[in-house]
Amino acid sequence: MFLNFIQDHKMTEFVPITRYSRCKRYSGAVLKCPECHTITRTGHLSWTVKRCQNCERHINKFDWLIEKGKYSKT
Ligand SMILES: [Zn+2]
Repeated sequence: MFLNFIQDHKMTEFVPITRYSRCKRYSGAVLKCPECHTITRTGHLSWTVKRCQNCERHINKFDWLIEKGKYSKT
């Protein structure tokens, strides 16, 4: 359920995407829109601009926020 998905990530800390961000080993990355703070998910990071489904802005990859920890090497 999508609502459960949102609930699960309410307490998640998000950090800006960096070139070190990876989501290959996972089923997808959890992203947060920097404009409207809507949580969404993506299967991969091989795009440069992604449209937010909620506010419909086109947002550059490095402006999106990604779930902290899981996807970066640090
Ligand atoms: Zn948005």
